[in-house]
Formats: sequence, C-alpha cells, structure tokens
Amino acid sequence: MTLALARKWRPRNFTELVGQEHVVRAISNALAQNRLHHAYLLTGTRGVGKTTLARIIAKALNCETGVTATPCGKCAACVEIDAGRFVDLIELDAASNTQVDNMRELLENAMYAPTSGRFKVYIIDEVHMLSRNAFNAMLKTLEEPPAHVKFILATTDPQKIPVTVLSRCLQFNLKQIPLAQIRGQLEYVLGKEGVAFDVPALSLLARAAEGSMRDALSLLDQAIAHGAGKVEEASVREMLGAVDRGYLFSIIHALTRGDGPALLAEADRMAARSLSLETALQELATLLHRVALAQTVPEALADDEPGRDTLVALAGKFSAEDVQLLYQIAIHGRRDLSLAPDEFAGFTMTLMRMLAFVPLEPVSLDQNGKLAAGPVATNSATVRPAVTPAATRAIEPPRAMESQPRVLEKPIPGGDEIRPIEAELSDWRNLVGRIKVGGMARMLGDNCEFQALQGDNLDLVVPEAHKHLLEKAYTEKLQAALGEYFGRRLRLRISAGGSGKTPAEIENQERQAKLAKAIESIDADPFVRELVENFDARVKDTSIKPVQ
Ligand SMILES: [Zn+2]
Repeated sequence: MTLALARKWRPRNFTELVGQEHVVRAISNALAQNRLHHAYLLTGTRGVGKTTLARIIAKALNCETGVTATPCGKCAACVEIDAGRFVDLIELDAASNTQVDNMRELLENAMYAPTSGRFKVYIIDEVHMLSRNAFNAMLKTLEEPPAHVKFILATTDPQKIPVTVLSRCLQFNLKQIPLAQIRGQLEYVLGKEGVAFDVPALSLLARAAEGSMRDALSLLDQAIAHGAGKVEEASVREMLGAVDRGYLFSIIHALTRGDGPALLAEADRMAARSLSLETALQELATLLHRVALAQTVPEALADDEPGRDTLVALAGKFSAEDVQLLYQIAIHGRRDLSLAPDEFAGFTMTLMRMLAFVPLEPVSLDQNGKLAAGPVATNSATVRPAVTPAATRAIEPPRAMESQPRVLEKPIPGGDEIRPIEAELSDWRNLVGRIKVGGMARMLGDNCEFQALQGDNLDLVVPEAHKHLLEKAYTEKLQAALGEYFGRRLRLRISAGGSGKTPAEIENQERQAKLAKAIESIDADPFVRELVENFDARVKDTSIKPVQ
C-alpha cells in the first residue's frame, strides 16, 4: 500500500470523474461535435476536481486519435499528459508567484506552433491570484488567440477575476461532491486496493471531506495507516476526533429513563477521555436528526445506516415533538458553548436542559423526599430527581480538563502545574490532543512540528508529503483553536520541512506496535460491554414509554 491514493486514483477520463456529471456532459458534447472554445474557466471549491478535469480536457484536445470526448489513454500524447511531461501542456499555479513573473514570456511563447501536440494548452490554477500585469498579459493573448492555443483556467474564487477575462471564457461550475458519491468512491477504491473496511467508517470520512474527493482520499490514506491496514469506524472516529456513538446512545438512553445521575456520569466519562464536547453536541444533533428521520420517513434510512436498528428502536421511545425539542436544545447548546463558563459546564447544562424539558416518564418525590411509586401526570408539581447531590459532584470538572483554561504565558509562583507557552508548544503532540480542533485542521496539526515562537508568530513545519494540508481554511481553523486555547492571538506560519517527528508519525509507529493489544482491551473493556449489554436490555424493555 502506497501513501498516495489521491494521486493513484485520480480520474484519467471523463467517465471516472465522480460527481461532476453536468459539466462532463456539456464538455463531452462540445468535444464530440468539435465545438471548441479557446478558453475555459473551471470554478468550484478546492478538491472537487478542477485541475483533474483540466488535464482530461487537455488529453481530449491532444489525443492522437483525434479531438474526442474519450481520449484513448494509450497514445504518446495521452501517456505524456498523464505523466505530466507533455511539452505542449503548460501548467501554472498562480498561487506561487515565481511562475507568474514570467507570464508575459510564457504567453509570447504561445505564438509558436505546438511542438508535438495539436494544441498548446495552458492550465492556470488559482488564476484569481494573478497580478494585474499578469492578467493584462493574458488578456492580450485571449483577445487574439492563435488557433493552436487553448486556455483552461481554474479558480476557487471567480469573483476576483477581471470581467474582461471572464467574458472571454466558457465557464463551468464544479459542484461539491455529494456525501454518498464520495462514500461510494471510497468503497470502490478500497475494494480495488483489497483493504478491509466497514461502511460507517467510510461515512465518517466522506463527511469530514466536505465535498472534496481529494480530501476524502487523503483522509482515507491516513485512515489506512491509522488502522494499520484496515478502515474501521472506531479507529476512524479516533483519527477524526469524532465522538463514539456508544456515548451518545448512552446519553439518549439515560434521557429516556429521565436518569439525571446517569446522564452526568456519562458526561464525566466523556470529559475524562478528553472527547470534544462540542463535537459531541454536534453528533448528538446528527443522531437526533436520524431518529427524526426514522420516525417520519423510515425509508430514508439506508439499510447500511450505522446503528439502524438502534435508531429505529429510539424512534419508538420519543414523540416526534420530543425529538424536535431535543434537537433544538442540542444545537443551541452547541452555539452557546463559547459563552458557558467552561466547556464541561456548557455541555452538562445542555444535557440537564434536555432532561428538564422533555416530558418523558415523570417521577415524583413524596413528602419524605423518596421516589414515589408509579408514574404520575405531568404537571408543574412534578419533580424529577434530575440533579441529586451525587450528580452535582459530577459537574466538577474532571482533572483532565482543569489546566486548560488556566494556561498563562508566565508561570505563577506556586502554580506548579502551569507551564509557559513555549513549554506547551514544544510538547506539540500533547498540545494538539488538547486544543479544540477536528477534521482536516486537526490533521494539519497532527502533521506539524513546532519550530519557534517569535512574538505572536508561531512557526511550524509540515513534511513535504503532507504539504497538501497547507490550505488556508485549515491553517485558519488551527490558528483559531490555538489562539483560543492560549487565550491570545497567534499567527501561524507553516513551512515545508522538518524531521518527520510529527504527532501523526509518532502515533502511527506506536499504534502499529500496540494495535493487537488495543483491540483486545477494547473488546474486554467493562464499560463498553456494560453499555452494549445495558442498551440491548433497554431496547427489549417496552415498559417505559413517553407520556403523551
Ligand atoms: Zn490518446
């Protein structure tokens, strides 16, 4: 298994291009009818296949079998374009300024006939980054293009392209790729690669990729390494910083019983494992959305939906209104998390709100403060034993979280647990595990090494092999999470290089050694077993029902 699925499975013809059927159809028709434009503009968010499509068009124009919507993939032109060494295909990345400086020179060269191909094709990626001079130089060529020149421009930000240039291009907008199509492609690739997987793991990866097939395949690469050759839900959840659904089911289970202490104990366990409680609320909302679907449109749940039976069982435990209400509470709780005194308080407050507002099996206390037997009607006199003294103790932040909000730049005398910011930064791996960041930004953090802190400038390095993670969006998310963690503004400057001792690499090595043992201990974990057993027992138990 090599670590470059994104490159290996890059589509080489129109039929392999996933999720852009509308664009492919239009371009294929034009090619088949030999209606060629001299400039194309491909727009769309990153990773949706713009440069991939551009290269396929270059092949379609230069294939030795003739201009075609189905380039042969075998002739010298096709092979050389695939290998990135076709002399008449000039690829520029406008984001790197070095090449743009000699734009004028490059375009002067456009006047000469192609060396070996039918057309000279210029692919300019991130074209909106060109300087005004460079645009002007290009415009001249676009105004009177030699018949043998084709431009294929690609951009994530078409708004920044001068109208004079836009008006000379045939524009195609590539869509974000739907989750199901990404998942399908991952499944296809893993089948071809002979890698074992489970479907929930692929759904998680597809969701984290946010519409980008390239990201999905990069994540898949990481997941295979992380899972030591297998792609399974638990391992992928861990890698993405996602929350194990077992915790979430356990929370909902406690809600159906109106069991406050169990609810808070569960929150405690989650915090003790340093799970992101913000992510937990997000996933709780996702889970409630699935429960609502199971109630109203059960056929919308795929047969391979993760935890399908459990969702269907839960659907019968709540009224539709309850599910709506719980969902609202979850998303509002998540929105307000930053306003809470700390994350744990915000999370548990949200859970208690759910407990207080959802009219499940009400429980009343008698005059002696003991639980009264049997259900009573829901009214204002009903008191639930939601927060017992024991449960209140559970709200105290567990030790794992205590040092988080207290990290200061300088050690306070006597505060021996508080370390200076540099010390935290130099223990980069530990730090990345503590800051609140997930998805691709977390992956970027995992693949960086700390270099230096100079004023507000935080210098990191990322190995060449992971340079693709250096996207502005991820850098910004990581920067924000670090800023929030340290309570000060930091400016991330990440460059390529380093010794390769990134958290991801170190963890990968450790993990491979420990994998067999870990699997064994997860299976034997009394807590996990208890959850499963309790939950199964719960599912069969029909004696507790929501009071309408
Ligand atoms: Zn060919």
